[in-house]
Amino acid sequence: MNRHLLLRATLLFIVIAASAPISTNAQVKPARDPKQPVDAEYTKKIREYTTETFFNSPLTDYLPASPKVPTPKAVLGDVAGAPGKLPYAAEVYSYMRMLEKASPRVKVYSIGSTEEGREMIAVAVASESLLGKLDENRARLAKLADPRTINMNDDEADRLVAESFPIYYITGTIHSTETGSPTALMELAYRLAVDESPYVRTIRDNMVVLITPVVEVDGRDRMVDVYNWHLANPNSNWPSLIYWGHYVAHDNNRDAIGLSLKLTRNVLNTFTSWKAQVIHDLHESVPYLYDNTIGDGPYNAWVDPILTDEWQMIGWNNVSEMTKFGMPGVFAHGNFDTWSPGYLMFIAATHNGISRLYETFGNAGADTVERTLSADDYSRTWYRQNPPLPRAKWSQRNNNNYQQTALLTTLFYFSNNNKLFLKNFYLKSKRSVEKPKNEGPAAYVFPGDDPRLGNQAELLRTLQGQGCEIHRATAPFTVALKTKKKPAATPSPTASPSATPSPTPYQVDQATAAPETRQFPAGSYIVRMDQPYSRIADALLDYQYWAPNDPQQDVYDDTGWTMGELGNVQVVRVTDVKALNAAMERVTGSSLPRRQPLNYKRRRQIWVCRSTRSIRLPQSKPIP
Ligand SMILES: [Zn+2]
Repeated sequence: MNRHLLLRATLLFIVIAASAPISTNAQVKPARDPKQPVDAEYTKKIREYTTETFFNSPLTDYLPASPKVPTPKAVLGDVAGAPGKLPYAAEVYSYMRMLEKASPRVKVYSIGSTEEGREMIAVAVASESLLGKLDENRARLAKLADPRTINMNDDEADRLVAESFPIYYITGTIHSTETGSPTALMELAYRLAVDESPYVRTIRDNMVVLITPVVEVDGRDRMVDVYNWHLANPNSNWPSLIYWGHYVAHDNNRDAIGLSLKLTRNVLNTFTSWKAQVIHDLHESVPYLYDNTIGDGPYNAWVDPILTDEWQMIGWNNVSEMTKFGMPGVFAHGNFDTWSPGYLMFIAATHNGISRLYETFGNAGADTVERTLSADDYSRTWYRQNPPLPRAKWSQRNNNNYQQTALLTTLFYFSNNNKLFLKNFYLKSKRSVEKPKNEGPAAYVFPGDDPRLGNQAELLRTLQGQGCEIHRATAPFTVALKTKKKPAATPSPTASPSATPSPTPYQVDQATAAPETRQFPAGSYIVRMDQPYSRIADALLDYQYWAPNDPQQDVYDDTGWTMGELGNVQVVRVTDVKALNAAMERVTGSSLPRRQPLNYKRRRQIWVCRSTRSIRLPQSKPIP
């Protein structure tokens, strides 16, 4: 082979090697760096609080020592997951800020506050080099997230992918009785910043891990109050929480449609402003670790099919790695489904990212408890080949081992495939922009002559909260509409039974279907589907669909989300791409009409939205 050919062959090999997805790096063992000293005292406690050796892994059965960086013991007085230790959110934050001060690999960001005024934070952990390039990386990710900015140019996208690193966002303890993740995440942040093993360095050098250690901060503090009362009164029954947060109890993780809670908006805004690729929410229920993103059917019909593949890849890798560690009770599939778009982590699914969720096993507090399982939980099935034990002593430390081990295996897999997931992020964003010409529709139109303009504005503001772009027509426009589906004639109750199945109530009579047109007035609002976040708008505005004869007969959450009908607002699904050529201007939230609250004190008036206009009523005294 001459030099020229050799060079070409070498270049070809490099191109193939660079573009082929790496599933795992077999050279890197999940084990500590023998050259790095271990914090002997901390490690001894980890082993003491772990009730069986097989409830731990080579990734978490030790803690690396650091001469400069404090361990969670500095705040907890003991190790993460120690019995009787549940830190308040302020203690968790205080530790994360100690890490930030001691390590150039940690940065802490304030991301907003709760209904009761408590702070929410996000902690970024990565190599010093990556953290130094966060702003320029974010600018590149913003282009991948909105491919219109690079004229949908795939070559340019490849160049951006090659230079960029992904953001993996982990959120802990949204359900306040599920208490393990704050300490697990404190220790995980320490490990990611300090551990010099090739395994952890691979993560740190190839991606940013972003952590909100406490999502429901108000509820966490109440839960710690209650738990501490229990410690002080060990022989008394202890009360359970009525509400986790100020307004909502357990369904605080089902707010991703209406965005009524600050925690939802803070996580959504963090995810979209960081241009993150994943939201991974941590929960506790079934033994011992259920990677439920894969789930059962039905699957949500509005997300990109690429996402379904990503769920399978990451989830089964997780099960595979932990099964090799010999940790029992790690499984995927199960009975959760991916149908409802209401979950916190599903924000990522509907915004071109990847939603992930773990259920680990917890004791609703930090007591060590003998746990006896039902046969359903410990039976061996095709998706749970190494099931949990029928009976075992379970500790908060076991929980922290499982959470961290699972997250580390997932992060390692993600870091090895970081370019693949970034490219998928671009492809999903691009396909969202191309929706009108591929699967459709072209747009949703909110007619300007809808008599309920207050309701209309509320729904449009919700969509803006989701990051959707809203336009307003500056002139009347006309589009072709598909003929409305005609309800089939109801069979007479006296009719004789027939072997021919009856038509479903909304079957279209294709033979008589004829196109019709509709003119919308100037001032109508248009949600274009050629935008990066078209999928969430499509999911919320389209008719929710589930066929009664689908093989899956049960859904996990029986949730309604056809937002036009729910809000009593006219929403017209338009497939005619001519709608995109209508004269229109982009509107911001502030230019939408505002519905005034009933107790609007400053002007001492009550405003009532009714019919086509707001009616102002005189009021003598303000309502408290
Ligand atoms: Zn939960």
